[in-house]
Amino acid sequence: MKQVFLFIFLFLPNTLFGFSSVTGNQPRLNWDIHSKITHPVVDKMGFSYISFRQILTGNVSHDYYPAMVKKAGLHCDRNRGVSNFVALTDCRKSFLRFKKKALSFIYRNNQMSALFYLGKALHILQDLVSHSNFIDLNKNDRLIIVGYFLGGPKHKNFPNFKLTFWDPVTIPNEKADRYHHAKYAKDSSSFNKECRHIIKGTKQSKFDLAFSTAQDLTKGFLLGLKNKLKSKQWEKLKLRN
Ligand SMILES: [Zn+2]
Repeated sequence: MKQVFLFIFLFLPNTLFGFSSVTGNQPRLNWDIHSKITHPVVDKMGFSYISFRQILTGNVSHDYYPAMVKKAGLHCDRNRGVSNFVALTDCRKSFLRFKKKALSFIYRNNQMSALFYLGKALHILQDLVSHSNFIDLNKNDRLIIVGYFLGGPKHKNFPNFKLTFWDPVTIPNEKADRYHHAKYAKDSSSFNKECRHIIKGTKQSKFDLAFSTAQDLTKGFLLGLKNKLKSKQWEKLKLRN
């Protein structure tokens, strides 16, 4: 199962899209972007428009309800005083919990609830790329991190991996975090310098790469799920009739 995920991740093609985002006083990857990441992937897999909308409802719930917007663990961000590894592990825990819920609803023949929780899991997975230095790492590091995130064996640390610092509470005179969400999140094509940064030897910006990588992970995750299910369960999930 794990090998399947990794194989898919390695060989998926990249695609490009544009997006914009603002939530509260600090920007976040917004519903429009999550929609643009998700729709082409599920559409190509044969999911109906209704099933896509249900995935999206779960996905964007994280950016809609204030209590969820504030939770770093639902967006692959890092709160004050938390290490990168602990923050990543916290996000992984939420991701795996939503995935498990989705599976249990699939087994109980409740596709609408299953799609909702798949959307929630996908939100965290997509934010993993835009709210970190994931795309700056070498392929081997990326594979190890994704393997861990998707439920692979426990790790002690990923020394090169960083999640963006995000905290809704501003503390006066606080020393700025070096890897701040406002400066390093790749949430839109023009949001900060980091997003606009053109990657050496390519015509691609970091934002473009983060976007296409989030699509690759979305596809890899769903193909992994397809592998796990009976074909009847997978087909039912698409809500085609
Ligand atoms: Zn988010």
